[in-house]
Amino acid sequence: MAKHYSIAIDGPAGAGKSTIAKALAKELGFHYVDTGAIYRTLGYFFNLIGIPPKDIDGITKYIDECVIEIEWDEDGAQHMFLNEIDVSEDIRTPEISKIASAVSAHKLVRDTLLDMQRDVARKHNVIMDGRDIGSVVLPKADVKFFLTASPEVRAQRRFDELKAKGSKDSYEKVLKEVNDRDHADMTRAVAPLKQTKSHILVDSSAMTVEEVIAHMGAIVREKCRL
Ligand code: C5P
Repeated sequence: MAKHYSIAIDGPAGAGKSTIAKALAKELGFHYVDTGAIYRTLGYFFNLIGIPPKDIDGITKYIDECVIEIEWDEDGAQHMFLNEIDVSEDIRTPEISKIASAVSAHKLVRDTLLDMQRDVARKHNVIMDGRDIGSVVLPKADVKFFLTASPEVRAQRRFDELKAKGSKDSYEKVLKEVNDRDHADMTRAVAPLKQTKSHILVDSSAMTVEEVIAHMGAIVREKCRL
């Protein structure tokens, strides 16, 4: 079987992972895999059926009823299907962000989604973003980035994004949510968000999107000899 390249981009919420990963995937002709969307879909499912994200007994009982599929359209955009319904838009709310973060702390949930993520990387050249891609999902990835920015910069980006969608949430509220989610993702017992020795750190606080793409693209080309 021909070798497939895999690029991991880990980092906290609002670091710009999806924007950068999408752009790089387009440039390189790789599949962009947003693993946060998978956790969001699962969180959305449990919210829909009324199981609180900390209720591990309820999650254990119903997890098999949640059938998640990923598809990519011709523009490379990832679509999430929950029991055959496209929920790609519904999973993008601050409420589902919080639920996804809580649900993702369970070992059972992470183990269940692991094969799905690895399977995509076995079949395609991928740029995969998440929290534990370089540390757990694809430890042998060709290049691993840890993309971050200060909490204030990340909150401002999220705030602008939400505002453009019509949200009235204040910057202070968004900053608190960013800090709370960072804390939850970094302190959980299973697969916490962390920069490993093999991650290349990219701090985008003072960089434009174009600068980040050019910087990371150059590293990928050099390391993968593309
Ligand atoms: O990246 P995004 O904000 O969409 O992720 C939603 C939540 O899913 C994160 O806060 C995190 O708790 C969880 N997640 C994870 N591991 C990943 C991707 C996301 O735990 N690889």
